[in-house]
Amino acid sequence: MSYRISLNLVENGLNFISKSIETIDKPDEDLKYSLINLHAGIQLLLKEMLYQEHWSLIFQNVETADKNKLKSGDFISVNQDTLIKRLQKISGIEFDEQLLEKMDWLRKERNKTEHYHFVVTADVLKSNIVKLFTYFIPFIKTEMIETGYISSDDERFYEIQDYLNEFDEYVSERLELIQSLLSNKEIILQCPICNQETIEFTDETDAFCYFCDKKIENFTEQYIDSFVDTYSHVMDGGEDPLNECPECELETFLCLDEYQYVCLTCGVKPTQDDLTTCNGPRCNGKLIYRRDEDVADFCGYCTDYFKHA
Ligand SMILES: [Zn+2]
Ligand SMILES: [Zn+2]
Ligand SMILES: [Zn+2]
Repeated sequence: MSYRISLNLVENGLNFISKSIETIDKPDEDLKYSLINLHAGIQLLLKEMLYQEHWSLIFQNVETADKNKLKSGDFISVNQDTLIKRLQKISGIEFDEQLLEKMDWLRKERNKTEHYHFVVTADVLKSNIVKLFTYFIPFIKTEMIETGYISSDDERFYEIQDYLNEFDEYVSERLELIQSLLSNKEIILQCPICNQETIEFTDETDAFCYFCDKKIENFTEQYIDSFVDTYSHVMDGGEDPLNECPECELETFLCLDEYQYVCLTCGVKPTQDDLTTCNGPRCNGKLIYRRDEDVADFCGYCTDYFKHA
């Protein structure tokens, strides 16, 4: 007779998640555990799916898989990246792109709690958790409830959804309040901390988030890190989303929506109508300010080249 080892992954996973959002209003140090528990809980649920595929897959290194180690828990279990890849490639599970993004946010925040002073507030955490679960709840429904990993009348799952609804209402109410403050601002950027579109951006030293209700330090770096995909253009030969700024000449000039541009360093906010590309021989089509119609538009490099040619 073959026996099954029960790891209680689903059981523990749901308990971790439920405990995590239940304690979110506790102050400081506890908040950090809320984040750690949430991350752990989601990982456990996903590991269950992999475990059902084959138990050895929850070992980071499958060659070292060993039933005795599995029983004793004495092994390095699969990390988030590998876990998701195996679910996609081996189990054929589909992940929404947004869900992957939010899970990546959670992983990064969780790692920060180990290395840095913990600064996230309950509001910021709630805002992000609401966003994460907007995608994770449907995922649990299709991949875990309909497939029978979680019982459809599991009380904790309903409890978790109840908490989330409270957060959700709270977050929407705050956003509504903030909206009136933001309505007359030229450009609103997304906040790398709370993920809401609530940043009034003046320049790199002055980016104020109305949801976080504070100035965001190192905004330029954090924004590019979180939202600007400079990596895939290198991999797929696509266009770099960041251009050289016609004002300060730093490579932080970002096109927001085909029409509106903003420099994440000096804060200039020209539109497509204000810009044109240089036709000169040296720069490979730099973005420059459009001038009078009669004057040819060349950048500084190319103008210099003509002078010395
Ligand atoms: Zn914020
Ligand atoms: Zn600039
Ligand atoms: Zn040029």
